Amino acid sequence: MTTLSITDRFDSGNIIVKDASDPQAISLEIRRDHRSDFFQWFHFRVSGARDTALSMRIINAAEAAYLDGWTDYQACASYDRETWFRVETRYEDGVLIIDHEPELDTVWYAYFAPYSMERHQDLIAWAQTHPAARLDVLGDTLDGQSLDCLTIGDGDKSIWITARQHPGESMAEWWVEGFLTRLLDDADPVARRLREAVTFHVVPNMNPDGSRRGHLRTNAKGVNLNREWDKATPENSPEVFYVLEAIRRTGVDLHLDVHGDEGLPYNFIAGGEGAPNFTEADGAMLDAYKSALEAISPDFQTTHGYEVDAPGSADLSICTNYMVNEFRCLAMTLEMPFKDNADLPDPLHGWSPDRCRKLGAANLDAMLAVLDAI
Ligand code: ZN
Repeated sequence: MTTLSITDRFDSGNIIVKDASDPQAISLEIRRDHRSDFFQWFHFRVSGARDTALSMRIINAAEAAYLDGWTDYQACASYDRETWFRVETRYEDGVLIIDHEPELDTVWYAYFAPYSMERHQDLIAWAQTHPAARLDVLGDTLDGQSLDCLTIGDGDKSIWITARQHPGESMAEWWVEGFLTRLLDDADPVARRLREAVTFHVVPNMNPDGSRRGHLRTNAKGVNLNREWDKATPENSPEVFYVLEAIRRTGVDLHLDVHGDEGLPYNFIAGGEGAPNFTEADGAMLDAYKSALEAISPDFQTTHGYEVDAPGSADLSICTNYMVNEFRCLAMTLEMPFKDNADLPDPLHGWSPDRCRKLGAANLDAMLAVLDAI
C-alpha cells in the first residue's frame, strides 16, 4: 500500500506540511517569502492519494498578502504539469480549504499554473535560435542566476517588456511566451511590420530568484522589486538596477510591465497618471493603447481596474510611474487575474496559460495601432 506524501522540494515549490495523517484533514501552511512577510503563492505535489478524497486546509491563509484573493478563488491542479484545471476551493473561518479526489497517483497543486525556471531556460533557448533575436545577460541575480533580456528587431523605436517582477505572478511569463511566439512568427504580418519599425527588449522574468524559491512578491533578499525603481541598487535590487542601466542605453518609447492581480477577476491596464510629469498627451496615448487592445481581445476590458492616482501623487518607486516620469514614454502595468475573467469565464480552467498566451499575442496588434503615436 502506498502512503500519502506531500512535498514542495522542487522549482517554485512552497508548502509546509503540519499534519498529513488524515486525508480528510490535511493541515498545511504557506511559507513566507525569505526575509519578508509576504506570502500567498503555494505549489506542492501530493502522491499516494489515488481515489482518495482529500481535504487540504491551508491554515495560515488569513495572514496572506491579499485576503480578497481567496474570495471566489479555485485552486489549480494538474496531473501532467501541462494542463491545469481548477478544483473545489473555499475560504472559511480564515482557512483555505481545497477538496479534491485525485484520479492518478500524483497530482500537483498551485496558486496559478507555475512557470518554472527550467521552462524559462527552454523559452530563451528557443527564442535565441531565431535570426531576428539576440540574448543578453544584463547581470547576475543575488542567487547567481542570469537576468535574461531578448533583443528582437532592428527598428528605430524602442519597446521594453518586463514581466514577473512579482515571481508568484507566473501568468506574466505565460503572457511573454505568447507574445514572443507571435513576434517571432515570420508568417505574421503584424510581427514583421513591428520588427521593421521597433527594437524590442524583452525580460521574460525579472525575478528568477523569487521564482525558483517559490516567493509571491520578493527577490532573494526579501525586496519587492516594484517598489525599487527610484532607488535600485546592485546590493538590494540588482534586477531593477541592471534593467534600468540597459534602458538608459537603448532609450524607450513604450514600456509594458506585466503582472497578475490576486483580487480582481479581470484583465486591465494601469497607467502612470499620478506621475508629476504625466501630460494630457500621455493620457491620450494610454487611452489609445487600451482602446486598441479592448477592440482586439474580448479578454481585455477598461471598466474595472485600479483607482487612478491624483495628479502628482504617484509613488515613483513603482515601475510604471517611474518610467513615464523619468523617460516620458508610454508606460503601462498590465494586470491579469489569478481567478478568471468574469466577463468571459471558463469554469474548468479559469484564467489559464493558454489565455495568457493569447492575450500576450494580442498586444502586438495594440502596439502596431499606436506605433505612430509613441
Ligand atoms: Zn505584481
